[in-house]
Amino acid sequence: MKSDARIYNFSAGPAVQPVPVLRQAQRDLLALPGVGMSVLEISHRSPAFEDILARAEADLRRVAGIPDDYAVLFLHGGASTQFSMVPMNLLAPGATADYVLTGSWSEKAAREARRVGNVNVAATTKPEAFRRIPRQDELRLTPDAAYVHYTSNNTIFGTQWRTPPDVGAAPLVSDASSDILSRPLHVARHGLIYAGAQKNLGPAGVTLVIIRRDLLDRSPADLATMLNYTTHVEGRSLYNTPSVFSIYVLGLVVKWVDDQGGVDAMARLSARKASALYAEIDRTGFYRGTAEPDSRSLMNVTFRLADEHLERRFIEEATTAGLDGLGGHRSVRGMRASIYNAFPEAGVAALVDFMREFERRKG
Ligand code: PMP
Repeated sequence: MKSDARIYNFSAGPAVQPVPVLRQAQRDLLALPGVGMSVLEISHRSPAFEDILARAEADLRRVAGIPDDYAVLFLHGGASTQFSMVPMNLLAPGATADYVLTGSWSEKAAREARRVGNVNVAATTKPEAFRRIPRQDELRLTPDAAYVHYTSNNTIFGTQWRTPPDVGAAPLVSDASSDILSRPLHVARHGLIYAGAQKNLGPAGVTLVIIRRDLLDRSPADLATMLNYTTHVEGRSLYNTPSVFSIYVLGLVVKWVDDQGGVDAMARLSARKASALYAEIDRTGFYRGTAEPDSRSLMNVTFRLADEHLERRFIEEATTAGLDGLGGHRSVRGMRASIYNAFPEAGVAALVDFMREFERRKG
């Protein structure tokens, strides 16, 4: 293989990025057109960066359908910092926040909220090894909850909500880290949506927050400045030095999604890629999908083999065949094919071929 040839990267994140985006980033790394300096070298207060930031936000608003009564923030600290910022800003003393637990990330989010205030577990599928998303009629919601938190796609367990849960008047908060821009976002049904960028939005280092402006009134005045959403709304994500390069690449990725036909086109593409893999998993019983069929994720396809020895062989041989990153999360093992927006259909076809061939030899 040529030393700069690209392999198929099934990593759960940081994940594969669109090739045209990487090409443009490579070109602009030496000098932004008309600026004469690299995007790594310009001031975050320069007109060139102001333009990059404004364009990224405008494109994101159009592609994701974000109404004007929502602020768009580009923050630091990953989705994990949002586990804390959400309750610090939105959960007033004495109030209760509802959490729907569908995997490790939502458990972590709930753990941070408990440090701040009262948490009610509205539903959990932990006793079923997080194999499914709870049904609407299983949700035990608190009347007047401060908000209801859910994880729209469970990166580790390979499950995904088909539609956002119905939670009445309470603001709905979504951790959309691993499926944002893979389908319509239904922003108006949410009070707040957050996502680490490193799967569907670009490189690690920037975290997107979309917050309905009326919720900003809740942030306590004595909250640490950097942890207060109002700081970043007033500062237009420039209160301190933002993750300049990551925001620049995020802008390119959003534009790429737009050029492909937007989130509807992404949804069609994801459905095609995921159904090809699930069809192969279901074909004979040699492979076993870990998620219940109606909860299956279109982003992270998780499956197992009869024993861990065989799984190790599968992953090793796949890696040798140029199919990288197929090992499941270290907490659950097995296999996981992450097929985010930028993952090519040809890579899915290559994995299906490899699975058939592996089964023929070992089945
Ligand atoms: N939520 C989900 C659904 C995730 O998949 C991840 C990371 N894989 C996180 C939160 C944590 O994100 P970060 O590493 O950006 O803090």
